[in-house]
Amino acid sequence: MYMGNIVEIGEREELLRNPHHPYTEALLSAVPRAGQRRNRIVLEGSTPDPINLPSGCIFRTRCPYAEEKCKEQKPEWENIEGEHFAACHFKDSLELKGIKNRKRA
Ligand code: SF4
Repeated sequence: MYMGNIVEIGEREELLRNPHHPYTEALLSAVPRAGQRRNRIVLEGSTPDPINLPSGCIFRTRCPYAEEKCKEQKPEWENIEGEHFAACHFKDSLELKGIKNRKRA
């Protein structure tokens, strides 16, 4: 959930292993893992004003993958598989890292 909006939803194991939203990836990168180097994703900027949210995708001002389309169009919920849904224009093309597929250092 980002700024009061659900951006990705699904079964816990599926989300941990296979995130399809950049905010989920950033959250998962902050989870400490014994014996692994942390490649934490630090989001730039600050959270937007809740009464003046960005156009298009509300995460776009902090998303490391944002493109022009993200400014112009709000991403729709789309099904990934089963009960897994995400709202990102590039959910199928980004190779996001989950916890269970994070490489060991
Ligand atoms: S739609 Fe664009 S800004 Fe929003 S999460 Fe996806 S890549 Fe990032």
